[in-house]
Amino acid sequence: MRFQILGSSAGKTVPRPFCRCRVCEVARRDGGRHVRTRCAVHLHLDQDEGPEPRYGIDMSPESWGQLIREGVAGDHLAHLLITHTHADHLDPLLLGMRGSILSEKKELTHLRVYGSDSVEEQLVGLNLDKLNASWQRVTPLEPFTVNELQVTPLRANHGPGTALNYVVQHVDETVLLAWDTGYWEAETWEAVTDCRFDGVISECTILGPGPVDRDSRHLNFATLVDMKLRLTQMGCIDESTPWATLHIGDNGGLTYDEQVELAEPQGVTVGYDGMWFAPQISA
Ligand SMILES: [Zn+2]
Ligand SMILES: [Zn+2]
Repeated sequence: MRFQILGSSAGKTVPRPFCRCRVCEVARRDGGRHVRTRCAVHLHLDQDEGPEPRYGIDMSPESWGQLIREGVAGDHLAHLLITHTHADHLDPLLLGMRGSILSEKKELTHLRVYGSDSVEEQLVGLNLDKLNASWQRVTPLEPFTVNELQVTPLRANHGPGTALNYVVQHVDETVLLAWDTGYWEAETWEAVTDCRFDGVISECTILGPGPVDRDSRHLNFATLVDMKLRLTQMGCIDESTPWATLHIGDNGGLTYDEQVELAEPQGVTVGYDGMWFAPQISA
């Protein structure tokens, strides 16, 4: 499996409109990895031909521009996992555009959308049949099959509503996708006891200095490191397991370069828009 982080910002893009904070000003001035758009990830399998994605996780309001940047149309997208209802992860307007395309509708790949009961409520206004799409409600801790993938949803600590993290398996690779997560509750920690992850992509909304905060519905860097340590102690990962972050705001007060300085010594790769991520099966 290979993942591409299309958008790496938290709920507010970086720079965030109207904001004159230092992080946003550096992003305006320097561009590149400092500029972040909202959450969308594509998953490619090794046997996939061409750049068009078949699997996606979340679809933010910036997804249209992210597709342009990657030179793809998105019409081959067949499976879309949604983590939760927040607007930075799910834009029903964008999905709705499938109904008005001018190219041959029969050539548009059928899209199956997966998510929690809360996401289902969000989608009631869409006539999925007309969009050549269908819906599958998934429940925490009940594994399901997504074509070639095995997926287990985990309950995130990111209510109100049911927010999900996903464990995605393909052949002998297992990757944990944990955004937006917060520090897990006991049920989720128990659920991963016997898991072995070959890679982790997690949020780090507040990527900056600050103490561990297990009560927040988002992770700061200290809380991420705390979770990483616990997963290591449980044997779910080891020090060499690739770990990348997305969902990074201006909230931590650090620029991209400063974030890298903070995160790299802890074995954490700071994600950016367009970054590729591959799991690594350890011996
Ligand atoms: Zn979010
Ligand atoms: Zn700002």
